[in-house]
Amino acid sequence: MTDHTHDAKRRSWVVSANGHPDFPVQNLPFGVFALHAERPRGGVAIGDEILDLPAALEAGLLDGAVQDAAEAAARPTLNRFLDLGAGPRAALRERLFEILSDEATAPVRARVPRLLHRAADCTLHLPAAIGDFTDFFASIQHATNSGQLLRPDTPLPPNYKYQPIAYHSRSSSVRPSGTPLQRPNGLRKPAGDSVPGFGPTRALDYEMELGVWIGPGNGLGETIPIAEAHAHIAGFCLVNDWSARDIQAWECQPLGPFLAKNFLTSISPWIVTTEALRPFRVPQAPRPAGDPAPPHHLWCEFDQTHGGLAVELEVLLSTRVMRARGVPAQRLSRASTRHLYWTVAQMVAHHTSGGCNLAPGDLFGSGTVSAPEPEGWGSLLELSRGGRTPVHLASGETRSFLEDGDEVIFRARAARDGFAPIGFGECRGMVVMPH
Ligand code: CA
Repeated sequence: MTDHTHDAKRRSWVVSANGHPDFPVQNLPFGVFALHAERPRGGVAIGDEILDLPAALEAGLLDGAVQDAAEAAARPTLNRFLDLGAGPRAALRERLFEILSDEATAPVRARVPRLLHRAADCTLHLPAAIGDFTDFFASIQHATNSGQLLRPDTPLPPNYKYQPIAYHSRSSSVRPSGTPLQRPNGLRKPAGDSVPGFGPTRALDYEMELGVWIGPGNGLGETIPIAEAHAHIAGFCLVNDWSARDIQAWECQPLGPFLAKNFLTSISPWIVTTEALRPFRVPQAPRPAGDPAPPHHLWCEFDQTHGGLAVELEVLLSTRVMRARGVPAQRLSRASTRHLYWTVAQMVAHHTSGGCNLAPGDLFGSGTVSAPEPEGWGSLLELSRGGRTPVHLASGETRSFLEDGDEVIFRARAARDGFAPIGFGECRGMVVMPH
């Protein structure tokens, strides 16, 4: 499963990559960046730098067998690159490893520095035109925690253990990390009021999710069998599925979230490839005794032994008061994706099992990732028990839900003994009032 591109002993001649928390040479995620006011184009993160793919192509460093993939990855949207699938993607990553690792020849090392930009000088864009965005509900702890607030006796819906449940979300309002979050308006009905009132949400929340980039996908009327699903999972990112809980509580019955979640979704802008995450594959967590086995179309031995993912996600909060005092952001929770009840391959197989087509550049959210213990609960709704027990911050402030000026920061890290840890880069957003 792993090869020389995962070897922890390998270093990069790009000095900032060695020991970098997110982007050592073993990662090499793809994204779309713009330097100053120049046109957006494809790039690869390496340490504190970005390798300019159009410039690397022009310099003749990405010709031959990888040229087609490199040209697709150099574009201002990476949909065609995601469409190429695992083989060309892995070959390009391997060539980039040759160029950027300590195995690079002296002539290559002499040419490449001109092709690197300081990431701090660049703006990151969405890496692909997102045709469709589906948000799952794959953390059984999150499903239980949120269900308990509504139905204390039967928190889990009866379908939960038989299929990965999801809703079709909104792709037009997915934005890269750093986009400000305008507090949305909507109808909300506080307990005790007889009619709903329209205005800014009073229960703004985040949801810490793993994002999945789809490629190549399937045609309408075709299915992706579970045994083939891994070939359609191109990479991963972080997703903040911002949620307005009061709007959600009022509008969600009987259909799913609408205005409560369609005002903005933030993602980390780098596509961390399936190949880079190979060392961090784990067996799917066994189901508790008494749970039903997954249905036949969602069962695959390989997926059960390799379909889990050990990525630690963490959420941090920085308030106006904390910034004014020069206090760093405070961690609110940390949880591993190894706790998810459904694998990503099961999500792909189930999504397509009725003939729905997935396209390259489609995005999945895993659903809020919550660990079994409260230190790992991935939303304020859970941490504050629906707003009833506010979270106490080290600054002396409390939070039931987000306040104006709050900045929410997600980070992720995959680590395993014997391998270089890799990260996803940040997904952040600050709450501002509507204009
Ligand atoms: Ca969600």
